[in-house]
Amino acid sequence: MQRATPIRVFNTLTRRKEDFVPVEAGLVKIYTCGPTVYRYAHIGNLRSYLMADWLRRLLEAQGYSVKHVKNITDVGHMRQDMLERGEDKVISAALAEGKTPEQIAAHYTEAFMADESKLNILPAHEFPHATTNVPEMVDLTKMLVDRGYGYVVDGNVYFEVGRFSEYGKLSRQQSAGLEAGARVEADPLKRDQRDFALWKAAEEGRMLKWPSPWGDGFPGWHIECSAMAAKYLGPEIDFHTGGVDNIFPHHEDEIAQSEAAFGRRHVRYWMHGQHLLVDGLKMAKSTGNTYEVSDLEKRGFEPLAFRYLCATASYRARLNFTLKSLCAAQKALLRLREKLSHSDQRASKEGEKEGDRLREEFWGALADDLSLPKALAVAWRVARSGLPGTVKRELLMDFDRVLGLDLVTRMPSASAIPTEVEALARERDEFRRRNAYPEADAIRERIQAMGYEARDAKRGTALVPIPAWARTDAAISSSGDVDSLLNEPDAVDFTIGIVARRGCDELERSLMSARQWAGGISAEFVVVDNGLEDGCGGRLDELAASDERLHVFHADHFLGSAAGLNVVLKQARGRHIVTLDTSVEVKGDIFTPSRKLLEDSRVGIAGRWGVTSGDLRSFEEAEESGDVDAVEGYLMAFRRDLVKEIGLLDEKYRFYRHLDLDFSLAARTAGYRLVTDTGLPVARHEHLEWAATPEEERDRLSKRNFYRFLRKWGERSDLLVAQAR
Ligand code: AMP
Ligand code: ZN
Repeated sequence: MQRATPIRVFNTLTRRKEDFVPVEAGLVKIYTCGPTVYRYAHIGNLRSYLMADWLRRLLEAQGYSVKHVKNITDVGHMRQDMLERGEDKVISAALAEGKTPEQIAAHYTEAFMADESKLNILPAHEFPHATTNVPEMVDLTKMLVDRGYGYVVDGNVYFEVGRFSEYGKLSRQQSAGLEAGARVEADPLKRDQRDFALWKAAEEGRMLKWPSPWGDGFPGWHIECSAMAAKYLGPEIDFHTGGVDNIFPHHEDEIAQSEAAFGRRHVRYWMHGQHLLVDGLKMAKSTGNTYEVSDLEKRGFEPLAFRYLCATASYRARLNFTLKSLCAAQKALLRLREKLSHSDQRASKEGEKEGDRLREEFWGALADDLSLPKALAVAWRVARSGLPGTVKRELLMDFDRVLGLDLVTRMPSASAIPTEVEALARERDEFRRRNAYPEADAIRERIQAMGYEARDAKRGTALVPIPAWARTDAAISSSGDVDSLLNEPDAVDFTIGIVARRGCDELERSLMSARQWAGGISAEFVVVDNGLEDGCGGRLDELAASDERLHVFHADHFLGSAAGLNVVLKQARGRHIVTLDTSVEVKGDIFTPSRKLLEDSRVGIAGRWGVTSGDLRSFEEAEESGDVDAVEGYLMAFRRDLVKEIGLLDEKYRFYRHLDLDFSLAARTAGYRLVTDTGLPVARHEHLEWAATPEEERDRLSKRNFYRFLRKWGERSDLLVAQAR
């Protein structure tokens, strides 16, 4: 086809847009860092494969032959220590069940291929597996040792970074930035801590190991891609793609290895896709905020809705994923297809001219560093235009070669309507004939509850299925989805806020007990279902239906502890706010004594439990009532004005630990006292969030929050009660 508009891409290496000139005329070589197949891919991973897919489709549409290689990092690279520490539950479980590493890898590889196919990602021409290319990795390592770039220590081989003068040219970085507070253990075998392993000696008891001139061992982290890129594509390739997290050290090291070994440029254009985020954090298994394609399907979405969503943002921009935005993408995709199936057929001369202009604009947008958002906008202009149906369809079919959204081929499927629903519709028609509208409306609601929309048509009730995904639309995806009422006047004396992630019974216990003791006061309840398990949300809705003081918010996933509480803080209309953890049961009037404590304007937060500290690193529970350094989150009472003054909670605290301390210290900086009253009539039961988190997970999440806290407050011991005295 036409190669009218030359392709320009942003090259990470040079930090600017460059015209694309292939290394070898006629054949374009793309290497994509592929999946790790001892777990399912999440849609963040898939976003980077979508970028590579769009690139490849564009090149092919422009008439290039493309060879696309995507490596499969299989279990052979799994580090034994990871296995032993049980770091990966899936693989540990599979091994415990007697599955071989090969079986595990085969399972996840198959799942990956299925996910890619659901997203219309064209299969790469080659999917080389790391484990079947170990001899090539050994050879490459040997070459590097022979050429003086590698050195051997006790069966390990390291790349000597100091010998490769261009090290750092891709990332402008020489070593990993140290996370504050985290200690990185120096490897005593390395000559320079920047050096990285090409080959590692197998530790005692390791199952996955290969022979080499340096003894049994396994390849380092980066040599895989250098070896396989050279084997399948040759020493110099056109495009290398990956996510931005691959830039350092993975791709930096890959350049060093390949260029040191072959003495020529490794890659012409480095393309890196920005991350998919959730609640502002990178989607990652370790953060616990991942969605898989199957999660989207379970909610009734078409996987291509995700492809559409990714096309609405530049690949170089971060994209915050929410189910709400996915709903919008799904709706848009359906509408775009609908527009095409409803346009009329006539073709005309003027139509063709206009069509040519739009076509040019579309391909121009894509050629400009893969601007999918612009290209999509052109597709919409075509769909909305007055162009004849045949022209529209021809254009959109052309565009879809790159968009890959099944714009024209997919026909909306008409599914059979259950007979009960049909029967209700006829019953409703009968009521309408008799002008019995209240009865007819009641039936409409029943029909809706069964998943169908009852529309009034000339020949009686028409039934339209409500897709499952549309039901997610009503839930909130972030605390930003609720309005802030902080500047509205107080409406009640107390807002009692409860946020729950798990435990229906526990939630009901704390809510009912608080409700019982709030009987005589002016109060409202704000309950946030922070991604509760199935069924629980419905119970809350039933309660709310018969209690106008109860306001329930459903989150479509776990928003994080701080964000959940921020929903309460933003929606509260009480002069005072009391937040309760679901482990807390109210046993008497907590409101009068809390109000009393807060009558003292110097008191910022009051509670039942508190801690003190000498160094902001370790904290001790306070035994007696009085001043503390932080009020614990099980029960916190404060004036709503405090939130106006010190702001909402820091949503980076997804896990609850240290969140209460962070909030408390913010109140301390504003000059407030924090006090506890051990006489408040409450009981504390098992803390579910803690109990339900596996031990290593607790450690990891706690540490993360601890360092976050320390970075912010570590040097502020002037805020501590003991120092202030
Ligand atoms: P991994 O399996 O972690 O090696 O990741 C596979 C690919 O997905 C790599 O190219 C990563 O850079 C990319 N990736 C990982 N997390 C994300 C994310 N949240 N958004 C976009 N790409 C990601
Ligand atoms: Zn790679």
